[in-house]
Amino acid sequence: MPQDFAHRTRATAAGRPHESLKQLSILSSLWQVLVKLSMMKVVYLPIVVGTFAFFSMLVVSSIRVDASVQLTHEEWLQPEAHDLLKLENTVKKVLVRSGGSAISSLKNLGFSFSETMAMQAAAKKVHSLAHIQVGHAFTREDGDGVIDVYYELNAAQRLHLNHYKQAWHASLEQIAVSSRTVYVQAKIEDSLFLDASKAGLDDRTTMNLVDVFAWDIDFARDLRKGDQFQVLYEEDYNDKGKVIGSTIIAAEFVNQGRIYHAIRHQLSSGKEDYYALNGKSLRKAYLKSPVKYSRISSRFTSARKHPVLGYTRAHKGVDYAARSGTPIYALGDGRIAFAGWKGGYGRLIEIRHGNRDHRTRYGHMRKFARGIHKGVHVKQGQVIGYVGMSGLATGPHLHFEFRVRGRAVNPLRVKHAPAKPVPKAEMAAYLEHANMLQQTLDSETQKWGWG
Ligand SMILES: [Zn+2]
Repeated sequence: MPQDFAHRTRATAAGRPHESLKQLSILSSLWQVLVKLSMMKVVYLPIVVGTFAFFSMLVVSSIRVDASVQLTHEEWLQPEAHDLLKLENTVKKVLVRSGGSAISSLKNLGFSFSETMAMQAAAKKVHSLAHIQVGHAFTREDGDGVIDVYYELNAAQRLHLNHYKQAWHASLEQIAVSSRTVYVQAKIEDSLFLDASKAGLDDRTTMNLVDVFAWDIDFARDLRKGDQFQVLYEEDYNDKGKVIGSTIIAAEFVNQGRIYHAIRHQLSSGKEDYYALNGKSLRKAYLKSPVKYSRISSRFTSARKHPVLGYTRAHKGVDYAARSGTPIYALGDGRIAFAGWKGGYGRLIEIRHGNRDHRTRYGHMRKFARGIHKGVHVKQGQVIGYVGMSGLATGPHLHFEFRVRGRAVNPLRVKHAPAKPVPKAEMAAYLEHANMLQQTLDSETQKWGWG
């Protein structure tokens, strides 16, 4: 392992819309209205200025972070937000959507239909654009009278479409891949993704961090201001310096004063996974939450007034408010026991888990994921469907239930049994590896101190 890691310094935060900008624009329109009113009757000016000052205080105070509420920033985490990433002024990138085509992706990059046809014809000689994959990116770079379009085939190869002399030219290019080890630490002041980004962590690695700790920390409701993390990861980048892959090697997350560790370790069987310092697996029988980056809008209660039906009845599950289309994950391995329409639940999925007594239910879905139907085996963390508002729902949310022997229990109170630890015979080797990585993290902490 190299001794000198790349240390991310405070980078400028990516130019994403922030809630406070919205509030500032409200202020400015309020000001304009008040100015117009004051022009009609000048004598009212003191009242106008006073009113504006009062509202300013209200709005500004609401911008501040409330330490008692969850800090996840849903806005940025929606699939739509990741669809079109504007990298620089002249570089545009779109990801191929499910059900999307090369033509629709290229149109999203600003090309006309006839141009997309010309590009498709040029590409045919090296790689047919009829064969593209969901989640892969098309990138457009505009230069001096030249347009470059790239389609990533895999981490090492891409299709290059180049426009010059009024024609499209296609070629396959190798992407030279190198890697480096990076250390980043951050303290949460605003939201996980904002503070991680400020500390120099890319969104991909932040998402990996969320995945690694998803069994212990519910990022939708456990995160607090003052939480902090440090992470050591390996970053693969191409010849243009663009990061194309990231793997967390070791991480430490301090959540509400509790310290969680994750060490990536390869067993002699070749299987790689994340373990705690004592060799226990970080994977539990169940995820702590079936949706990432959402907020709980209604908890498990024995009685509450139903928002649609009006009368009071028990709420036998937990509601997660999230934007329509947000992916829903299977809480644990199991078999689909039901996938269809069920009264007020709307589009419902029920999973019977490895522990036969346990079932989970996911209601109000907009649609099911491809290949999800009764009898199908699903793995923990697999996307089974998407948040919607089918059935009796006032807005898009996931109604989630955990049932033990047919009775709904509070999902937030279910005990999570861990997966297999490092085998005894390999424990000594693991502990040595884990200690080495933990010492590295500790020495970095001392060097840099907590942000
Ligand atoms: Zn509900």
